[in-house]
Order: sequence, then C-alpha cells, then structure tokens
Amino acid sequence: MPLETQMLGGFAMSYDFDLFVIGGGSGGVRCARIAGGHGARVAVAESRHWGGTCVNLGCVPKKLLVQASEYGDLARDARGFGWNAEPGTHDWGRLIAAKDREIARLNGAYARTLGNAGVTMFEGRARLEDAHTVVLEPGPLDPDFAPKRLTAERIVIATGSSPERQADIEGHELAIVSDDAFHLADRPQRVTILGGGYIGIEFAGIFAGLGSDVQLVYRQDLPLRGFDEDLRTALAEAVAARGITVHAGRTISRIRRQDGGYSVTLDDGRSWATDLVFFAVGRSPNVAGLGLERAGVETTAHGRIVVDGHGETSCPGIFAIGDVTNRMNLTPVAIAEGHRLADRLYGPGPRDWSFDTTPKAVFFSPPLASVGLTEAEAAARGPADIYLTRFTPMRHTLSGRDRRTVMKLVVDHASQVVVGAHMLGDDTPEMMQALAIAVTAGLTKQDFDRTIGLHPTSAEEFVTLRTLTRTTA
Ligand code: NDP
Repeated sequence: MPLETQMLGGFAMSYDFDLFVIGGGSGGVRCARIAGGHGARVAVAESRHWGGTCVNLGCVPKKLLVQASEYGDLARDARGFGWNAEPGTHDWGRLIAAKDREIARLNGAYARTLGNAGVTMFEGRARLEDAHTVVLEPGPLDPDFAPKRLTAERIVIATGSSPERQADIEGHELAIVSDDAFHLADRPQRVTILGGGYIGIEFAGIFAGLGSDVQLVYRQDLPLRGFDEDLRTALAEAVAARGITVHAGRTISRIRRQDGGYSVTLDDGRSWATDLVFFAVGRSPNVAGLGLERAGVETTAHGRIVVDGHGETSCPGIFAIGDVTNRMNLTPVAIAEGHRLADRLYGPGPRDWSFDTTPKAVFFSPPLASVGLTEAEAAARGPADIYLTRFTPMRHTLSGRDRRTVMKLVVDHASQVVVGAHMLGDDTPEMMQALAIAVTAGLTKQDFDRTIGLHPTSAEEFVTLRTLTRTTA
C-alpha cells in the first residue's frame, strides 16, 4: 500500500515509491542504494543483467581478458631472469568459463547490495507512461515477469549505452561488437578491428596477446583522439611493437563472406581475408522503447538525454545519469552522478565531486592513463611548462622486450600548478589514480619536487622530473 501522500495542486497524490530507478547498472545501483540508505522508498528495474555494462560486458570482463593476454609475454620475459619458461598454449574456452563464473558472482553481489539497502528490485523492462508512472514488462532476465504499472514521485533513467553497429558500411551485419566479443565460442586466428578508440585499442591488445593476427583500422593518423599527442604517438609505437598491423587514416568500406570467413575491403581498395570483423566505433545511449516522449523528456539528435547541472531532464522530477546522457561514458562518473543525485534528493546534500579531473585509462599492454589537461588544452589557456621523459623500465632491461615508458607533466607556467599528467607504461592506471588526487588538489610542480621519491620505481620519475622539455607559446 502506498505510504506517502503528497498534496499536488490541491489533490492528494500517492506514489508507490519515492524514487524509481530504471536500470541496474553502476550508476543506477549506486543511486538506488544511497537513496535507500537515506530512508527513501526506492525501486529499481533491470531487464538484462544486474551490474549493467561494466560488470557484464565492459570494464570487468575486459580487464580479465587483458590480464589473460599478458601471460604469454610474461613467460617470455621470464627467460631473461633465468627461468626456462614457455608461454604454452592458451585455452579460450577455459578463460571465458572462468570469466563467466566471476561475473555471475558479481551479479549476485550487486543484487545483494540492493536488497541490503532495502531497495525493491524488479527484473523487468521499464518504460515511462507519464512523468510519474512506469510500466514494467518481461525482459531477457525474466521472460515470465508479470507486467506491472507503478508510480513514483521521482524517476531516474540509468539505462546506459550500447555499442554502435555502423549501418552505412556494406556488410556491417557480418561484424561483431564488444557485447559479442565476450562470448565468442573460439578465439579467431585473424581479427580485423575498426576503431582506434578505447575499445578498439583494448581488444586489439587482447587478441594480439593471445596469439591472433590483428589488423587495426582507424581513420585518424593516431589512435585515441582527444588524448595527449605524445601519449597517442607512444601508443602507436606500442601497438606496432605488439605485432598489430595498423591501417591509419582509413576506414572499412565493404565486408563480404568468403571461404568460411570474411573479406574486408578498405576505402583505398586494399583487401584481405579475416576470421572476424569487430566494430569498435562508439556507443549510443539506450533510449529506444523508454517512452521518453510520453513524459516530455528531451533528447539530442544522437539520442542522448539532455540534463541540467543537477541531472534533471526537461521533465521536472525525471533525472538521468551515466552513459544515457552520453557525456563521459565512464563507470566511476556514472557512479558519482548517481551518488550525488541520491545525496541531493534525500541526504545531507551532495559532496563536491571533481568531474574535471576524472582520470582515464586505456588497458592496452602497456596501459596508458591521463588526468587533467593535455598539452594542447593547456596551451590554449596560456603558456604551459612541459616535462616529458621516456625510459626503459627496470624489468625490461633483463626481459629483453622492447617496451618503453613515457611520462609527461603539464604545468601552468604562471601559477606552476600541475594541470595534467599523462603516462604510458606498466602499472600506469594504478599510478594515475594517485596522481589524480594531486591534480584535483591543485598541487604545484614545487609540491611534486619536494616529494621524496620511492626507489626503485617508475613512479618516482614523476617527482624527479627536473628538466623542462619545453614551454608552449
Ligand atoms: P570511442 O569513442 O573511444 O572510439 C570510437 C572510434 O571509432 C574512434 O576511433 C572513431 O574515430 C571511430 N569511429 C567512429 N565512427 C566511425 C565511423 N563511422 N567509421 C569509422 N570509424 C569510426 O568509442 P569506443 O567504442 O572505443 O568506446 C566507447 C566509449 O566507452 C569510450 O569513449 C569510453 O567512454 C568508454 N570506454 C571506456 C573504457 C575505459 O575506461 N577503459 C573502455 C571501453 C570503453 P574518430 O576518432 O575519427 O572519431
């Protein structure tokens, strides 16, 4: 029975819930859990899998596959340290089964977390009927789900995003996307990937490390548009060093079936045979079938839900967080947005999150990561001091592997505040999380300089960068 009654326009309005969250991914679960903890009556609907993209078809399984892809090289490295090691053969089926067991464990953990916070969970597909009414129907998670109509004072849309399938390329239906890659029955020997962004780079590394022959096609001169130029150059070198064949400045114009596999043709006419074509060309917000128009929720031409600084949509009382707003498609950002919203609506008020200094990592091998401004972004605001170093990390002096580390600090010339940190090399994401604190805190180059190094590490280079590489105009 509804517990809460509100006076609206002189009429008593009762809602089944204070807050209804559509989508049980990283952002939705955090928002629901925190709101429930503040005493709100909260429901969350999930139609596909608890934990959303990150847990099921993104960050978590991806990182497990990246780790799997590194053991071959580590075995080869070990020879330089006296081990008579051989990489051996890799069993893809065993890896996928182990990964699936871990994901199933995490699904359960997510569901338990919600239950412990007193959140009501529905395993159905939700759509809006109006600004306060949600209709629930059966979805893949529970095909026998009994349809329901529920009301809530406020609604949060946290439905995430899905990989794009590039429909204007002939034969696009023959290509897979990242959602499919996590459940391939076998590892293809010849892989062609389109896209030089996060997913293209990470999966190129995964397949190459496991022994596949990888052709990587991207339309820029360098991968990872938007990252610092020195990092992009270092990554391009690392991609080549991994044995991946790069077709830069190109795109795929046609895919056809051929001899049990496929033939891929580029826009310059070159063509080759491959066992798998993988599109990694961006993600689009999951808004289809949500009934946004019924509640007057506005989207951009690309389907992204438009929100104000508080995450509220054009329909008062309906909010959106995470990838469905298509701002920064990163799990910790969705989590922070969900947490902040729940605190603002039901708690003591939001804490001050620093979205401008969100660290980013791309889990290639070696990985790269960044926080703050690139050199070009800093230079556009005023003169910047650049400190850049490249070196062979200690492990690879004996391993014999051609693997360089690149580190860069971007410092505002006038104030000496460190406004950006960028690195490619072993353990980079682990270091960048700590550097993100320094950049968020607005520490200066002098603060870095007076910090004692931790020896012998690669990380100590960040506090021993003494030689100014250049000052931008
Ligand atoms: P990205 O936006 O990172 O990269 C898309 C790539 O596809 C770019 O190289 C882009 O080229 C190219 N592209 C786009 N459209 C076309 C087209 N029509 N024809 C040819 N090439 C095209 O998207 P991803 O799919 O790699 O990842 C989606 C998002 O998911 C990321 O942006 C990130 O926010 C998130 N993510 C984060 C991860 C992490 O944190 N480690 C891991 C994976 C995903 P161009 O540069 O020219 O536009």
